[in-house]
Amino acid sequence: MHTDETQEFLASLPELEEGKTYHFKCYPGIECFNACCSDLDMVLTPYDIMRMRAALKMSSIDFLRVYTVGHRASDTNFPIFKFRMTDDAARTCAFVTDKGCRIYNDRPGACRMYPLGRATKPDGKGGVAEQFFVVKEPHCRGFLEKDEWTGASWKNDQGFQEYTASNDRYMYILSKIKQEGRPVSDKMSHMATLAMYKIDEFQRFITKMRLFDRVEVDEKRQKAILDNEQVALAFAMDWFELMLFHDTSKLKTKGVTPRGPACKS
Ligand code: SF4
Ligand code: SF4
Repeated sequence: MHTDETQEFLASLPELEEGKTYHFKCYPGIECFNACCSDLDMVLTPYDIMRMRAALKMSSIDFLRVYTVGHRASDTNFPIFKFRMTDDAARTCAFVTDKGCRIYNDRPGACRMYPLGRATKPDGKGGVAEQFFVVKEPHCRGFLEKDEWTGASWKNDQGFQEYTASNDRYMYILSKIKQEGRPVSDKMSHMATLAMYKIDEFQRFITKMRLFDRVEVDEKRQKAILDNEQVALAFAMDWFELMLFHDTSKLKTKGVTPRGPACKS
């Protein structure tokens, strides 16, 4: 599902208002076990991809080739990668097994939040306000169980908190591109693929292109960016916002224009 379509889909569902609860439990042995792990139309975020790749010990190039289908959004020209299902009639997820998810600890954020959908909007104070929606599919028997959750307690229980900072930032970048009303250039789209979805390649690009000669990053952070993909992804978003929106609030150039030959917008 396109990210805009995701927002529209969520808006069509009943909202789980703050403090309101729903009943749900999912476990091996429930009669519908694994029924929700097929025929998915799911956009993977950069953080999802980074976590899944780490669990599988795969390079970004191999991961994107094997487990995703990429395209550029028709309105923004921004690269989007969707989760690839198997080619058979059932279109199952490649990671589903009789015992459950093979990458459970690093499953995508949308899998964690299910059966809730989560949407965010700016809260007017520099942060985001979140809304939860209940995705009540007829085949899901988990709603008949006794366990009771609010949106916030489900989010914490499922370990989604680790995903919020990066995913919310990603959604902010997508919505800002859309607000600006003009598609990104092919060159910037290519750079977004590198910086957001191919973090291992981006780390090599930083060294090869001597990126730290052009932006203000202290030595400690430079090392962390090159050593740690999560830190590199946060830097990639800073860098992308600098390149695309000329936003210097998080990253500043060293007095040279950010429009170098490798990153011209
Ligand atoms: S359909 Fe619902 S209860 Fe069944 S496995 Fe999926 S999430 Fe769990
Ligand atoms: S990643 Fe895991 S939880 Fe998500 S659809 Fe695949 S098997 Fe199911």
